[in-house]
Amino acid sequence: MEGSFTELMDRVIRRGLCTACGTCAGICPAGSIGFDYVDGEPLPQLEGECLACGFCLAACPGEEVDLPALEEVVFGCRRPQAVPDLGVYRRILAGWAKDESVRMRGAGGGLVTALLLYALDEGLVDAALVAGFRADQPWRTQAWLATTREQVAAAAQSKYACVTVNALLTQALRQGYRRLAVVGLPCHVHGLRKIQQAGQPRDLAQSVILIVGLFCASQFYFEGTRHLLVEHLGVPSLERVKRLSYRDGGWPGHLVVELEGGQRLVLDRHQYMYHHLMPAFKRDRCEMCVDWSAELADIAAGDFWDPRAKAGEFLGASTCLVRSARGEEVVEGALQKGYVELGPVGDPLRLAAGIGYELKKHAAAFRLRQRRRFGWPVPDYHLEVDYEPFAREFHLAPEKGK
Ligand code: SF4
Ligand code: SF4
Ligand code: SF4
Repeated sequence: MEGSFTELMDRVIRRGLCTACGTCAGICPAGSIGFDYVDGEPLPQLEGECLACGFCLAACPGEEVDLPALEEVVFGCRRPQAVPDLGVYRRILAGWAKDESVRMRGAGGGLVTALLLYALDEGLVDAALVAGFRADQPWRTQAWLATTREQVAAAAQSKYACVTVNALLTQALRQGYRRLAVVGLPCHVHGLRKIQQAGQPRDLAQSVILIVGLFCASQFYFEGTRHLLVEHLGVPSLERVKRLSYRDGGWPGHLVVELEGGQRLVLDRHQYMYHHLMPAFKRDRCEMCVDWSAELADIAAGDFWDPRAKAGEFLGASTCLVRSARGEEVVEGALQKGYVELGPVGDPLRLAAGIGYELKKHAAAFRLRQRRRFGWPVPDYHLEVDYEPFAREFHLAPEKGK
């Protein structure tokens, strides 16, 4: 394998193609890659010697993700042409954690938490890489290695700022874990699958045995969170924040911040997401990402936005795309042992009509075409995505005749 950190810097980081997935830091055998936080955004930097092993460049999903080739490697087949936007899948289900406290704590049904708890309880995995908030600065995100139910539960709910989850990979191996689950966004999954495709470093490629991918429309600059807290909600200083949650207080959940002294501030989810974060603070790299539903994960999960569901009457549900044999094994086991309740979604086109597919398969794909015209840097997903008019709706379309 050829390459060095200098090449990673020149080809990916300096060209604005870094997704902040953390894979380069997590794979570096010299432990030489760290992060420089500029404006709250993690930017990989060399903090020690580079051995020029090329691992970081080969695994990085910033510049290139060959989705068709990776599909062959991971699933042994290509996506069905009838509904290509959903990627390869065996089953499309929707449901929730059976334990109501887990369901209520999750952003959309607590499904991911329940599946991880099952995998840990049954000894299928010995640790899980997950994302949550820092204990010392609870307004900032961070990843951790969860080995207990409490550590898994503490990572529940959506995070709308970057988390360099994959940066903890080598640390997990050094701590002796050899059966790892990782919960990540599509770009985290891309990095992990590229490691597995290359088969190097071997211990790392073999140790990640379960990948749970989260649907991702975009990640947001931390400046968006700061703006909401300080300028919109009037938080006098971030240091006064004791707890932050982006999806708190029952489905679909609102931004909740608790301050020193017990003051609690709430901002409506639709207001902050659609009037603030989404239009103003999307990360630029995310504007060019075409993977919404974690197309290379073993199990992909995200909110189930059923138009018939009403906030206050609905406890939240998750869509669950079961993609691989490993994913099938875990979902089946969790069903049989009563960790989750899941039922079929029906027509897959109902799912492909969601706003996420509009954002990724239409808007991002169109943006890539525009950027290429001007010779601007773009990631290559090796996929011609469909940007022809398609009957997409902002939420799941009700089945015809119902
Ligand atoms: S591996 Fe991830 S964090 Fe590292 S440069 Fe590439 S995209 Fe950025
Ligand atoms: S030692 Fe290898 S993984 Fe680490 S920075 Fe250099 S090329 Fe990248
Ligand atoms: S939009 Fe794509 S690049 Fe951005 S965080 Fe989500 S998966 Fe990663």
